[in-house]
Amino acid sequence: MDIKDKVIVITGAGGGLGRAMALQLAKQGAKLALVDLGNDALQVTLDQVVALDANAKTYNADVSNETSVESTFSQIAEDFNGIDGLINNAGILRDGLLLKAKDGDVVSKMSLEQFQSVIDVNLTGVFLCGREAALQMIKYKRQGVIINMSSVARQGNMGQTNYSASKAGVVAMTVTWARELGRYGIRVGAIAPGVIRTAMTDAMKPEMRERLEKMKPVGRLGTPEEIAHTAKYIFENDFFTGRVIEIDGGLAM
Ligand code: NAD
Repeated sequence: MDIKDKVIVITGAGGGLGRAMALQLAKQGAKLALVDLGNDALQVTLDQVVALDANAKTYNADVSNETSVESTFSQIAEDFNGIDGLINNAGILRDGLLLKAKDGDVVSKMSLEQFQSVIDVNLTGVFLCGREAALQMIKYKRQGVIINMSSVARQGNMGQTNYSASKAGVVAMTVTWARELGRYGIRVGAIAPGVIRTAMTDAMKPEMRERLEKMKPVGRLGTPEEIAHTAKYIFENDFFTGRVIEIDGGLAM
């Protein structure tokens, strides 16, 4: 896909990776529909891409709400006369152990609400946005591209039952959609970043971050720009579909 003049939707566009991907695509001449939960950060992303002369608009939507996602994607398609690309990027963390026991007694457990809230955004949100983007691509006869954000945690990670399950599910949907949507000329790929410096990782305890840096052969966390570069590659490479790119500095969990 030649990114120039293509209409690309980015969810979670106010966040660290969402903003970096918006800036990268703006530089390639994409038209951008920036989706987030109506926060100031979304406006900052808009201001930065407009400064690069991008044609862009913001949309406030909760990706886990079906009605909100359906109306947002049909509005975007109407505003831009179709949709060519989606980066399914909105995501949250609510880490905790499955169970904690002391002296043989279970003292705490991950609540269903803690599990479900992450599944709602990271898995159901990706499902709803992917479905509505594909619907609009078919309706407007576009050979589109969908990119789903997974994580290295998809392999399973301490304290991340909810997050790991959601990110593994995202890769399974990527392969399924690539097979189902290939007949309409739609490609689907996933990116599984290792730990990248954003607000999400800045909130970590410093000793935890240092430990992660030491676990990577490259000796540092990734940058949002390195993930944006990966998204650009998936959009541009027409032979890429149904696969996940692990971009993690060689991290082994
Ligand atoms: P971030 O917290 O900086 O940004 C996430 C954005 O998603 C925020 O702007 C937030 O408002 C938005 N969001 C949350 N819930 C939403 C909802 N229900 N509807 C709409 N928007 C919602 O996070 P980030 O680091 O930029 O991560 C982006 C994606 O990359 C996430 O899916 C994350 O799981 C994944 N990821 C990040 C890292 C990392 O190291 N930063 C590593 C692996 C995967």
